Amino acid sequence: MIVQLDKLAEAGERFRGTLAPESLALVGDEGIECRGDLEYDLTLHLSGTELSYRGQVELAVAFRCCRCAEFFDARVRESGLKGTKAVPETANSADLTPELREAMILAFPNYPACSTNCRGLCSQCGVNLNESGCDCRPPTDDRWGALDQISIE
Ligand SMILES: [Zn+2]
Ligand SMILES: [Zn+2]
Repeated sequence: MIVQLDKLAEAGERFRGTLAPESLALVGDEGIECRGDLEYDLTLHLSGTELSYRGQVELAVAFRCCRCAEFFDARVRESGLKGTKAVPETANSADLTPELREAMILAFPNYPACSTNCRGLCSQCGVNLNESGCDCRPPTDDRWGALDQISIE
C-alpha cells in the first residue's frame, strides 16, 4: 500500500482499498489459504516525519483446523489497527504493506478451530470424529496398572 506523502491532505485522509494476497506474502503458510484480497480502511495523518495510521484491515482466509485438520473459511478483521511509521524527510511516498501484513498476522488465531464443538481426530486410529465414530478406547494408563500388582502382606 503505497501512500503519496506529498499529496496527503494536511488534516489527514481516509484510504480504502484492497491488496492482493501475493503482495502480503501470506501465501506459503501451510495452515492458511487466502480467499480474497486484504481490505483496508485507514485514516492517515502525516506530522513531520511521522506517518500515523488507524483503521481496520480484513481478510477472507481458510485455516486448517488445529483439531481435525480440515480447512474452513473465516474472515479475520483487525478493527483497532493503530500505529506510526517514520518516514525520511525527503521521501514523497511510503509503503505501509509490511505494517498491514503484520497487523493481519497478529489477528490470526493461534489455534484455529473449525467450530468450538470440533471433536478432532481420534488419537489412535486418526478418524475424523466429526464425520464418523470409531471403536477405540482411551489407552489404559500403565502407571496405575503397575501399582495394582503390588500386593501388601
Ligand atoms: Zn475441526
Ligand atoms: Zn479411533
